[in-house]
Amino acid sequence: MENRTLELPVIPLRNTVILPHATSPVDVGRPRSKAAVERASEGDRHVFLVTQKAPEVDEPTPEDLYDTGVLAAVKQVMRLPDGTLQVVVETKARARLLAYREERGYVAAAGELLEDPPAYDEALVRVLMRELKEAFERYVEAHKGLRLDRYKVEAVLGMVDPLRLPDVAAGYATWNVEDKMAVLETMGVENRLKKVLELLLRDLERFALDSKIAARVKEQMDANQREYYLREQMKAIQKELGGEDAAGEMLELRERIEASGMPDEVKEKALKELARLERMQPGSPEATVARTYLDWLLDVPWTEASGDAIDIQLTRQVLDEDHYGLDEVKERILEFLAVRQLAEDDESYKGPILCLVGPPGVGKTSLGRSVARSMNRKFVRISLGGVRDEAEIRGHRRTYIGALPGKIIQAMKTAGVVNPVFLLDEIDKMASDWRGDPASAMLEVLDPEQNKTFTDHYLDVPYDLSRVFFITTANSLSTIPGPLRDRMEIIEIPGYTALEKEQIAKGFLWPRQLEAGQMKGRLAIEDAAIRRVIHEYTREAGVRELERQLAKLVRRAAKRYIENPWEGERRVAEADLPDYLGVPKYRPDKREDAPQVGAAQGLAWTPVGGALLTVEALAVPGKGNLKLTGNLGDVMKESAQAALSYLRSTASRWGLPEGFHTQWDLHVHVPEGATPKDGPSAGITIAVAIASALTGRPARMDWAMTGEVTLRGKVLAIGGLKEKLLAAHQSGIRQVILPAENEPQLAEVPEEVLRDLEVKLVEQVEEVLETVLLPAPEPTPPADKPSLRPEA
Ligand code: ADP
Repeated sequence: MENRTLELPVIPLRNTVILPHATSPVDVGRPRSKAAVERASEGDRHVFLVTQKAPEVDEPTPEDLYDTGVLAAVKQVMRLPDGTLQVVVETKARARLLAYREERGYVAAAGELLEDPPAYDEALVRVLMRELKEAFERYVEAHKGLRLDRYKVEAVLGMVDPLRLPDVAAGYATWNVEDKMAVLETMGVENRLKKVLELLLRDLERFALDSKIAARVKEQMDANQREYYLREQMKAIQKELGGEDAAGEMLELRERIEASGMPDEVKEKALKELARLERMQPGSPEATVARTYLDWLLDVPWTEASGDAIDIQLTRQVLDEDHYGLDEVKERILEFLAVRQLAEDDESYKGPILCLVGPPGVGKTSLGRSVARSMNRKFVRISLGGVRDEAEIRGHRRTYIGALPGKIIQAMKTAGVVNPVFLLDEIDKMASDWRGDPASAMLEVLDPEQNKTFTDHYLDVPYDLSRVFFITTANSLSTIPGPLRDRMEIIEIPGYTALEKEQIAKGFLWPRQLEAGQMKGRLAIEDAAIRRVIHEYTREAGVRELERQLAKLVRRAAKRYIENPWEGERRVAEADLPDYLGVPKYRPDKREDAPQVGAAQGLAWTPVGGALLTVEALAVPGKGNLKLTGNLGDVMKESAQAALSYLRSTASRWGLPEGFHTQWDLHVHVPEGATPKDGPSAGITIAVAIASALTGRPARMDWAMTGEVTLRGKVLAIGGLKEKLLAAHQSGIRQVILPAENEPQLAEVPEEVLRDLEVKLVEQVEEVLETVLLPAPEPTPPADKPSLRPEA
């Protein structure tokens, strides 16, 4: 086929390709282009439109132009006020430009018209046309920037001419110069259809991807925006309802929750509670409850820790700094800590809990404090004395009005760290009120298996207590429930001798009180005065009362100093004490030393230390009843029965009247009825008192005794030997009777105490009676002197 060649003026196009079969406006501003239009208008109005390769070139040479252009007819020319021509062209056919020529003021080119082969695969073209139309429709729909009038779209979809369709469709597309040139340069109906279809599909894919991304971005934005919007709304509402602060408060709570380091589970719960709180009316009762709860969750420590590893050397130093003596106790504590340290990294190590057992004021609490100090840890302490309800330890459920966490969580809040040294005071006192529950809650607290997830009813989330160093204290071992006791490493502190007390007072208590009373350098105390305070103003196993008395003394002196200042140090001597502390409460010489009929000096152990215990017995004519008074426990009553039975069986040996048990009533009384007394160790004392009452033989009161008695008169071992001897010694007793079975424990008694004591070890009650009972005085007429001795 012969292609036609024409020579026509050329209008170069910047940034645009106009495809055939279009009617399109073109702005013509460049002089040569204007001249070209004018030339065309004079002739048959035809021009070649050719796109520039680089739009910025003003006077393009042939090399700056694409080879392919279009043949177009100038339909309309309008001159704009600025001199530009607005030309409407109708494009007709593709043309290949062959040769350029400068004419008068414009460029002309010879171009060969390009025509598609007339024959094509009709079936293929039909399919391609249908697909192209479909793609075009979708393209128009998906293309956000393309606002094509509906009638134009309909026109494309209705086209039947396979030559027009691709050009018109491509004409509407917002493709760049390269894409459109590609369409322009593609020859052959099928090829062009395919090319355009391909470009449309390419864009559709892009749109789909874009919209997917956009959707995702939008989704995200929507969610954020929605939440933001709602939150703002809520803040506004809250502001209306509850003033300015509410919104800021919520924000602050949220920040605190995020920063708290709570485990995820807890955080989730806190955020949920916060969401609830935000919905409530500020200041309403339930908002207060929710707020209090959140505060608790935020106030207990979740991650903060303090302190160093255990350093045995340092701990020893600290313990020595804070405490006089107690060598064995300190040693045991250090051993305990050493093992604990060795097991530091051993997850499976289930160390026992340290339990310091002893009377009040022997330094249990302050030892705990020292341990904390030596490890640079926080120290907290709770008292379990009188705790009878599990809720005191574990808290009340939040559903109760005024519910709060239990003592454990409260103390953790006070500590502010997850690894304090935690002293559980008087764990035995809780046990004595034991109803099963507080003790089992304590078991959970102390059990390394369980305390990782300790649950407080109020907090209602597991709380990890496993890094806490628990130390417990007790006055008496016997009332700690077995399962708790099994978990404990028991360290006993029996009480101090007078000498030890003196050292403690001189080295620790006195300097501390001087300091506290601002009397340093103004007041001093003589050793003899300290000794007198110990003996005449206190009677205790520990040094608590001693410390109190010294404090009182310093305060009195301080008052006097303010009223009437003095120069230098004023010395407090023994004789000055009544002036500061009043009349002495205890006079060693006031103890009944003279032999008594119907009495005996016993030694008792109590949770607050050893004590002297006088047993009284009275025999009056009657029918053989035995009455026991003085708040005695069952075991003590039984041991009185045993003592009596023994005496009955051996009546004749002691000169007891035959059948005394049917003609006399016996009343055994142990004074100081307010203090409950129990235990079998008063057995021999009761036996002596009864025998004395029945025989009228006085019993020596300068002998103190302790020992359990059997029906056959054997004397059995007793507990608390050390405490009892300390008490006897302190009371000025110098002779004691002890069960022979207790001999080994004498080794634990301080040397300075043993030195002063004459100890008689016995196996049989008769040895006791023989030692203590004096011969009966010569009988005197009953009228003159009433005697307890039964009249035969
Ligand atoms: P507990 O807890 O056994 O009842 P505390 O620890 O409260 O006794 O002790 C009472 C007071 O006596 C405290 O001020 C304590 O520092 C002091 N104290 C006890 N034992 C000693 C000691 N061995 N050395 C120095 N001070 C002591």
